[in-house]
Amino acid sequence: MELWYTEQHTDDVRFSIKVNKHICSAQSEFQRIDVFEAVEFGKFLTLDGLMMVTEKDEFIYHEMIVHVPMAVNPQIKKVLVIGAGDGGTVRELTRYPGIEQIDMVEIDEMVVEVCREYLSQTACKLDDPRVKLYFEDGLRFVRTKQDAYDLIIVDSTDPFGPGEGLFTKEFYGNCHNALKEDGILVNQHESPYYGTYARSMKRAHKRIKEFFPVCGVYQAHIPTYPSGHWLFGFASKIYDPLKHFDASAWNALGIHTQYYNTALHVGCFAIPNYVKELLDSEDE
Ligand code: SAM
Repeated sequence: MELWYTEQHTDDVRFSIKVNKHICSAQSEFQRIDVFEAVEFGKFLTLDGLMMVTEKDEFIYHEMIVHVPMAVNPQIKKVLVIGAGDGGTVRELTRYPGIEQIDMVEIDEMVVEVCREYLSQTACKLDDPRVKLYFEDGLRFVRTKQDAYDLIIVDSTDPFGPGEGLFTKEFYGNCHNALKEDGILVNQHESPYYGTYARSMKRAHKRIKEFFPVCGVYQAHIPTYPSGHWLFGFASKIYDPLKHFDASAWNALGIHTQYYNTALHVGCFAIPNYVKELLDSEDE
C-alpha cells in the first residue's frame, strides 16, 4: 500500500509527496493541523491542507526571511515576529547575539505545541530567554504598538482563514506605526506564478507601498510551495536593501548558512520581467 499527501496548487495542478506515516492530526479553534513523515522531505507540517514547513527545505524560507533584513541593518535589537508557529524564524533570529528581544505573536497555540512535540528542528529555540510568546491575533497585537520595533517579520499563512487580516491595509499601516523610524518590515509575499497566489502578491505589494517609501520584493526557490517560486516583501522607512547592505559586516558575524550568502542577497532582488510587470500594474 502506498500513502500520498496531495495538495491542490490550482484547480488543475496537484503536488504529491509519498509519506511513510501520518504522525499527528488535530483540529484547533482556527485550523486543521497535520504532521506527516516522508522519505524525501522528512517530517512536514500542514495547516488546513497547505504546506507550511518540511524538514528538508525549511532552511531556505527561514534563512531568507531573517538574514536578508538582518544583513541590511545588523544593529537590529528588537524584533516582532507574527505567525511563525513552527519556530524556524525564531531559530534563525536567535543566532544574532546583538538581538535583545524577540516577541512572537502566534494566533494558534496548538501549532506551537504540535511543533514542539514533532518538529524540534524548527521549534528548538522557542525557549531562548530573549523570546516572548504571545498567543493572540497579530492584527490586534500591532494595533497597540508605537515606535517599538526595529524589525517586523510576518511569517503567516496565506491570505484566507486566520491569516487574512495580515494582508490588509489596516495591518500594514499598524506595522508602520509599530516600527521605529528606521524600521524594516519583511513578509512572506506569496508566489507570482499561479493566478490566485499572484493576485495575493500584487494586492499585498500595492498595500505595503502606500505606507513605506522603500518597498521591494525578493525571491527564493522553495520546492514544496506552489510552483516553487516564492517571494518575500522588503519594506522599510529608510534602508534600501541593496544600497545600505554591507556584505563584509554580515560576513564578519560568522553565521553559517545553507542557502543565504551575501552574493545571493544582491541576486535575490533581481526579479523576472513578468513579476515586475505584475507588481507595477495598477489593478489589484
Ligand atoms: N512558512 C509558512 C508558509 O509560508 O507557509 C508559514 C508558517 S507558520 C506555521 C504560519 C503561522 O501563522 C501559523 O501557525 C498560523 O497559525 C499563524 N497565523 C495565521 N494567522 C495569524 C494571525 N492573524 N495572527 C498570528 N498568527 C497567525
